[in-house]
Amino acid sequence: MTDYEHFRVRPESRVDLSKLDPAQTPGCKDKEEAAKRLERDVAALTHLQYLLYAENKRSLLIVLQALDGGGKDGTVLHVFQAFNPQSAYVHQFKVPSTLEASHDFLWRAHAAAPARGQAAIFNRSHYEDVLTVRVHELVPKDVWSKRYDRINEFEKNLTEAGTTIVKFFLHISPEAQLARFKKRLDDPTHQWKISESDYTERKRWDDYMAAYENVLERCSTAHAPWYVVPADKKWYRNLVVGGVIRETLEKMDPKTPAPTVDIERIRKQYHKAVDRA
Ligand code: AMP
Ligand code: MG
Repeated sequence: MTDYEHFRVRPESRVDLSKLDPAQTPGCKDKEEAAKRLERDVAALTHLQYLLYAENKRSLLIVLQALDGGGKDGTVLHVFQAFNPQSAYVHQFKVPSTLEASHDFLWRAHAAAPARGQAAIFNRSHYEDVLTVRVHELVPKDVWSKRYDRINEFEKNLTEAGTTIVKFFLHISPEAQLARFKKRLDDPTHQWKISESDYTERKRWDDYMAAYENVLERCSTAHAPWYVVPADKKWYRNLVVGGVIRETLEKMDPKTPAPTVDIERIRKQYHKAVDRA
């Protein structure tokens, strides 16, 4: 049992998001405690991601999903500062381009998947194809309803090739979302983020929750688990995401490769004179 196990969705369990309080902060008393713990997690992550890169055998894929204002960008900023841009990247999933839309829905996700030694963050993901696409009926039901199985197979394929996958749904309340939109309105440096659809999408809240519940029920697998993160409090959200990624990397236990040279010989041959000097 790890610290964040209770946020993991058990494979094939029923999920009722209305019963999960987005404002809860179990196991952490306040913002100050969270800041201290996150600092430690980020330091540990910095080392772990270095080991993953040095090992150069496996990879890590982190999926971030949320409604607008759910905190995907903030999570990237606060948690992923631990990662070195040399071996990690964020990939954003926007409305598919003409090229992307002319392929199967997993094509762009596969192309963006991390290579050996890398960590990738999907800011939105292939799950949009059973979320936005389903809610807006962009394809008929008999098309999107087959995608859950395709997604599970795709993720299985990645894990068998050495990618560890961890997925986060940042769960916010409609009230917290509206408060964040209001803050954007009042901050001239954030006004650019506002779109009319942020507000009109709120009318479809229940449809989105139903779509997310289906994703969580059908696609939280042993090999690629979903975590539902209470995300009304940003500090708690960061703590949980950082903590789960730390636990995930610790379990992967990446190791630096053995040296390719005889260290003692190199030491004797090239460092003696320097050491005497
Ligand atoms: P943002 O994350 O705010 O920059 O917005 C990206 C937008 O692209 C969101 O409105 C997503 O719902 C939309 N989007 C992402 N993937 C898809 C997709 N496969 N089909 C339709 N819309 C998508
Ligand atoms: Mg947006």
